Amino acid sequence: MGDGTFDVFCPECNIQVEGRVICSGSGDLSRNALNPIDEIDAEYHVDIYSVALCRRCNSPFLIKQSCYGVPGEFETVTSEVVLFPQVSRLPAEGIPDSVQRAYEQAHKCYAASTYEACALMCRRCLVLQR
Ligand SMILES: [Zn+2]
Repeated sequence: MGDGTFDVFCPECNIQVEGRVICSGSGDLSRNALNPIDEIDAEYHVDIYSVALCRRCNSPFLIKQSCYGVPGEFETVTSEVVLFPQVSRLPAEGIPDSVQRAYEQAHKCYAASTYEACALMCRRCLVLQR
């Protein structure tokens, strides 16, 4: 955190890109965390929301970072989630595990721009479905 960039998957560019942060905010500190200014050395949890833009195509991203720390000692990011754009996925309920695995592999192949491998994994989903 703090360097002003995120590595995110851009669906427009269809590759992993660097997102440049244009604004960040932590929302309501008093509800989500102890205020580090009020209690020195008190541990705190805070959610930081950042808007970033793809360096290639300027598509927007909304990223939520959950942070935990002790003022003056350390701060660490405990989770990082891209809230927008959401990855589109088909509902997985009732799908056999073998088909689900092939589907996940197809998504990974698509994200890595290995389209022939993606097509093979999609075919495997259909073959396993029978
Ligand atoms: Zn992009």
